[in-house]
Amino acid sequence: MSKSFAQIPQAVNEEVKSYAPGSPERAQLLDAYKKMFNEVTEVPQYIGSEEIFSGNKKEIRPPHDHQKVVGYFHEGTQEDVKKAIDTALAAKEAWVAMPWEDRAAIFLKAADLIAGPYRAKLNAATMIGQSKNAMQAEIDSACELIDFLRFNVQYMTEIYADQPISSPGIWNRVDYRPLEGFTFAITPFNFTAIAGNLPSCMALMGNVVVWKPSDKQTLAAKVTMEVFKKAGLPDGVINMILTSGAETAKTVLEHPDFAGLHFTGSTKVFNTLWKQIGDNIDKYRTYPRIVGETGGKDFVMVHKSACPTEVAVGLVRGAFEYQGQKCSAASRAYIPSNLWNEVEKQMKEMLATVTLGSPEDFSNFMTAVIDKNSFEKSKAYIDRANASSEAEVVIGGTYDDSVGYFVQPTVIKATNPKYESMVEEIFGPVLSVYVYDENEFEATLKLVDETSAYALTGSIFAKDRAAVEFASKALKNACGNFYINDKPTGAVVGQQPFGGARASGTNDKAGSAMNLLRWTSVQTIKETFVPAKDYKYPFLEK
Ligand code: NAD
Repeated sequence: MSKSFAQIPQAVNEEVKSYAPGSPERAQLLDAYKKMFNEVTEVPQYIGSEEIFSGNKKEIRPPHDHQKVVGYFHEGTQEDVKKAIDTALAAKEAWVAMPWEDRAAIFLKAADLIAGPYRAKLNAATMIGQSKNAMQAEIDSACELIDFLRFNVQYMTEIYADQPISSPGIWNRVDYRPLEGFTFAITPFNFTAIAGNLPSCMALMGNVVVWKPSDKQTLAAKVTMEVFKKAGLPDGVINMILTSGAETAKTVLEHPDFAGLHFTGSTKVFNTLWKQIGDNIDKYRTYPRIVGETGGKDFVMVHKSACPTEVAVGLVRGAFEYQGQKCSAASRAYIPSNLWNEVEKQMKEMLATVTLGSPEDFSNFMTAVIDKNSFEKSKAYIDRANASSEAEVVIGGTYDDSVGYFVQPTVIKATNPKYESMVEEIFGPVLSVYVYDENEFEATLKLVDETSAYALTGSIFAKDRAAVEFASKALKNACGNFYINDKPTGAVVGQQPFGGARASGTNDKAGSAMNLLRWTSVQTIKETFVPAKDYKYPFLEK
């Protein structure tokens, strides 16, 4: 046990590498990509010290080349889920007893492993399994995950240092205990960083974890577990299971020691989980923490004073990077009538230069959407817009799934601001725009606020400062992350804590101390140095 107050290294954001032609990182990444693409990777479950190859193999196919099998993940059973829970609970005592400095060292080491020897491998796995181009993989699986790991350590120490005041003769303290029982992380396909962060931030705070990654992210999830193990994470602290979400939730959420859910994914699934927790509430030893970051229908609101080029660039990047599969992706835009022709023209010109294809070809700005369901969903919105009297497809609108699930970046112009594609999360490269009367700024802000159930991210583009100020007020509750003259994507850990409210989640801000606090249960300790020896207070005197 240490006899000092340790100072941790100051967290700084990991530098994003350029991958420019001739750079060493480009060569390393291409090597790692080719190697993994031409091998067959077997992804086991990790329970305690065991790597479980169940034999129930499910194919892993790159979304951009769906005839190619790059590996298999070994699906588990509900017996494995029970085993993961028991293993986590068995690991708890030693993990809770471990000094925080050692927990910190494990995750700081994991960050350095990803920054160094595992960077290319984790990026390659994300490119192949989730179809991200090199830059999208770099900002996610390398930089954001590294940032989460480093900044969380810093936030943990800031939380621990936050102590109450004391008064004469009394010493007050608070102890940030881990939750009693085990915690459960369920993660989405679209960010390797989120998948790594959800279980690891709970573990950092002293919790033991059962982690169920998305079955569409298993390639990168495997590399993440390799990193945690290599960094010295004790067996059983994070147990990765590869099982059906619905069945697993049933098993886990019925357990009396279930202490917290850390979820990122769709609103529909989160609502189901919350209801299940409610139904099981009498079974638990403690009220579970419920943290969920869910869907979005993220807006870009444009004032008549905005620069059309800045708007067009914001929309092209905000709506179409990673094929619109970011929870923060711009998916509805409100353009004033004086700017629409110019914004449309410039977007057309920009998008004419965008190519789609394999992430192995670094010239591709876009790759494929994640799977057949996602492809069919975008296709259906495009087909319905083509057939609708309230909308027209003005850019893109083609799709082809013969090799990979490719959907061209598509812009739907709706004449009804409540047309379905202005309201619903599509989670593909489909942006909807509504052109409003340039003099109806205020009324349109109300529309932005009221159109969707979600409230994740949003932007205002304007040169007129009064318009910025007015929109900031009018949209106060319309998003959890608000951008002024910028696209609504690309939140950076430590700089823009991320999360939304309404149907977008509990807004516990991943990558901030606010989130870590949810994984602690504070015990307050009051110590009196010289206790009273007489029960009577002075006012009782006659
Ligand atoms: P999803 O909801 O389909 O799946 C998320 C996870 O839940 C996966 O691991 C999946 O296997 C599991 N799951 C599915 N059904 C389940 C059930 N009945 N019970 C328990 N678990 C179940 O989401 P996805 O397609 O992986 O990710 C896209 C969604 O995630 C989008 O809605 C997006 O907006 C959202 N998202 C939100 C944020 C945020 O920070 N707000 C970040 C990333 C993604």
